[in-house]
Amino acid sequence: MLLFDSHAHLDSISYPKSVDISNVIAVAVDLKTSLYFSYYSSLNQHLKVYPFVGLHPWFIERNFESDLNSLRQLIIESGVSIYGIGEIGLDYSRNANNKIDQQACFEAQVAMAVEFSLPVSVHCVKAFNDLYSILRPSRVKGVIHSFPLRQHEAKRFVSLGLKLGLNPRILSSNLTKRHAFYQQFPLSVWVVESDFPNLNHHNVCNDPRLGMLALIKDLALAYRISDEEVAVQIYNTTQQLLMSH
Ligand SMILES: [Zn+2]
Repeated sequence: MLLFDSHAHLDSISYPKSVDISNVIAVAVDLKTSLYFSYYSSLNQHLKVYPFVGLHPWFIERNFESDLNSLRQLIIESGVSIYGIGEIGLDYSRNANNKIDQQACFEAQVAMAVEFSLPVSVHCVKAFNDLYSILRPSRVKGVIHSFPLRQHEAKRFVSLGLKLGLNPRILSSNLTKRHAFYQQFPLSVWVVESDFPNLNHHNVCNDPRLGMLALIKDLALAYRISDEEVAVQIYNTTQQLLMSH
């Protein structure tokens, strides 16, 4: 079964070898990790790595304007080796004092993604209304990663043509509610992720494959199709995200 991991962090660590996982989107969180994009392939020769660059809301500095300029320069200079912008977004749970800066920085990166025809990988915690207000007029393509079991929000983002990233964490929710949640949407809205190496949940340990296989199995049960059919659909959906490239 071929798996495509739609969200992992490879900046300080190489991704484990796995027979199933062939493709990985590697996101960055700041300027430093964005600069790692050129090392991913040599450190992970068993994989096809698609580097994303971006400024995560946890790491927005006071002078984020100059970081945005450097990011822009990096995208221009690296050309086709950068496949998207992420991990970017809004997070009001950690730091609600810099909401205005978070919004400005996110909005500028979404505009950059549109300008360079790149997809985005978005992080959002306790900020779905503001996130929607910024994404709605942009028409940007991309995925909201680690999407929670929230039907109203999911519908709004799906209506914008965005994909929803499933993280193994969601598997600890109530099965009946979760399957009803999935079934509101066609299978083509979902992608799966490991968020490697942040896997200290569900006893999934350090094998990104196990969490993603569990998600595939869960979706297959909900949609009453085979694991293989789910895996193929998800692989294609993730590939299509990168097609604007
Ligand atoms: Zn992440």
